Amino acid sequence: MSHNGDAFPGMKILIIAAHPDDVEIGVGGAIALWVQGGAQVSYAIVTDGAAGNNDPGTDLVALAAQRQEEQRAAAALLGVDDIHFMGYADGTLEPGLALRRDLTRLIRQLKPDRVVCQDPTTVFVGDGYVNHPDHRAAGEAATYAVFPSAVSRPIFPELLEEGLEPHQVRELYLNLTLQPDVFVDITGVMDRKVEALLCHRSQLGEDAAKWMRERNAETGKQIGCAYAEAFRVLYLADEDDADSGETPS
Ligand SMILES: [Zn+2]
Repeated sequence: MSHNGDAFPGMKILIIAAHPDDVEIGVGGAIALWVQGGAQVSYAIVTDGAAGNNDPGTDLVALAAQRQEEQRAAAALLGVDDIHFMGYADGTLEPGLALRRDLTRLIRQLKPDRVVCQDPTTVFVGDGYVNHPDHRAAGEAATYAVFPSAVSRPIFPELLEEGLEPHQVRELYLNLTLQPDVFVDITGVMDRKVEALLCHRSQLGEDAAKWMRERNAETGKQIGCAYAEAFRVLYLADEDDADSGETPS
């Protein structure tokens, strides 16, 4: 098991994010590297992205469809084709039990070694950004789906009836975090990350390339490389714990 931001051949990684484009912004470089390392990467996009246009008269159904296509194109550039669009309403997401159940179901189906989600504790970033509540809601539901729901037999017994047994996720990676402790050097794939990001044409103009490079360069300074992404990482189980049958609470 890697404990340094790498991946290994056959490793299963599930990226959970609130909106189409969150994945590329927060994790796009690391995903490109993980896929190169032989990992099988899947995405769960929680909302439909239909709040991504403030113009009156916007066809929200068409916008949601366009954002799915943009997400598929962006994922393809990073080597990912398994995308689960969960269809919750964009802008009003809550970290309730329905969402946690849906994410628990997906985790038990896909059995990821590593789950990546948005840090639910991030409220303010610097002096100019209030974190979007959808990011916090998706992150909170994802975190509690990983633990305790995915691993605990008595939680969501209806999932057992669907044939979905408990699953222990080993690593939880939080992006958009104020307490990073794992840095991934994405210098070699930065161009591809930007190319993937720009697939989200309904949301982002060419200026996105500039601010994305600036942001990842700022993170890169912390480890002495040109571009990096940062995560807070929790290690939830060791290899030895695999079949102990114990569920800590
Ligand atoms: Zn977002």
